Amino acid sequence: MFLTHLDCPRCDRKHDAEVLANLCDCGSPLLARYDLDAVRAAVTPAAFAGRGADLWRYRELLPVRDDAHRVTLGEGWTPLWPASRFGGHIGLERLLVKDEGLVPTGSFKARGAAVGVSRARELGARHVAMPTNGNAGAAWATYAARGGLRSTIAMPLGAPTITRNEVVAAGGELILVDGLINDAGRLVAELIAASGGGIFDAGTLREPYRLEGKKTMGLEICEQLGWRVPDVIIYPTGGGVGLIGIHKALTELRALGWIGDRLPRLVAVQSTGCAPIVRAFAAGAHRAEPWADARTVAFGITVPAPLGDELILDALTATGGTALAVDDAEILADLRAFGEHEGLLLCPEGAACLTAARTLRDSGWLSASDEVVVLNTGAGIKYPETISAPGA
Ligand SMILES: *Cc1c(COP(=O)(O)O)cnc(C)c1O
Ligand SMILES: [Zn+2]
Repeated sequence: MFLTHLDCPRCDRKHDAEVLANLCDCGSPLLARYDLDAVRAAVTPAAFAGRGADLWRYRELLPVRDDAHRVTLGEGWTPLWPASRFGGHIGLERLLVKDEGLVPTGSFKARGAAVGVSRARELGARHVAMPTNGNAGAAWATYAARGGLRSTIAMPLGAPTITRNEVVAAGGELILVDGLINDAGRLVAELIAASGGGIFDAGTLREPYRLEGKKTMGLEICEQLGWRVPDVIIYPTGGGVGLIGIHKALTELRALGWIGDRLPRLVAVQSTGCAPIVRAFAAGAHRAEPWADARTVAFGITVPAPLGDELILDALTATGGTALAVDDAEILADLRAFGEHEGLLLCPEGAACLTAARTLRDSGWLSASDEVVVLNTGAGIKYPETISAPGA
């Protein structure tokens, strides 16, 4: 393993990576750091081609020391599909969709859960807890059970029913909250405080390793393109871990010298019903203010006060990217149009990225020849209510 320590991106303090860790004393999330010179000496890009078709193919850039602690259900190495028919429809010649709907539990959250649970287990955690909008809780309950850990998952009453059922199916303790994810967060914080160290806080960005699992989406995009980057990556941003993770992957690959110096422009997509990052980006702010009365059909991105706001805004600025909000009606229309053109039923969050691609093409921010990668973060079949069949 090449993990050396944890870094605070806000106050630069270094932390021990061999004990369970949550936030820095200054309140910032912590980032895992690796000895990249040693990684470069140990492995070359060509070596990955012969490895297993899951995210563990990147073990040199992952934080699990002992393979015996790997908790896996075969997550990662999802296809990167050309979508030229829908691309032609919106004026993009090189549109690609990475389909995270094929990951166990039907969303990319399984990447974060696989790596997060594996490392928490390795460092001695026996019980994890978190607030969630649904998919993260479903994934963590699933992987906790697979790894022999207990889980306590708090989610809003409005979260997709299937995600509640997944928690129960995996033997997790489910708590339903009449409110939003931040209300669920307050409840989990109380439980953890009362547990006297017995429950590990695995909330979004409150432990450093979920991010490491999610960053593998960025590693895969580069490997699947032949160790080069696209022009633009569009990501549906709630807590922003996927976006921060993709940015971290890109900067690690650049430091390794495996992808050249140019990074893709990163785009954060939110809903007009909950757009704290878009508002902060437009104002040139360094932090995001909490969004009042959040509500959208793209439930996975209903995060009124993301803890990683600074890191998200940094990733957008550092890559010359942007942030935009799209409307629920347009999301659902593009979800339908994408299915008609390409056959794949997207999740609403993935469809939001296609609405963003269309909008950015219309405004000229994207040119016809830009190579654009869109993340479909979950399986459309988890959200049957996005489509209504005639007569049904
Ligand atoms: C959680 C989730 C998102 C948002 O991901 P973040 O990395 O937290 O920004 C997007 N889409 C789906 C389907 C999700 O479950
Ligand atoms: Zn700090």
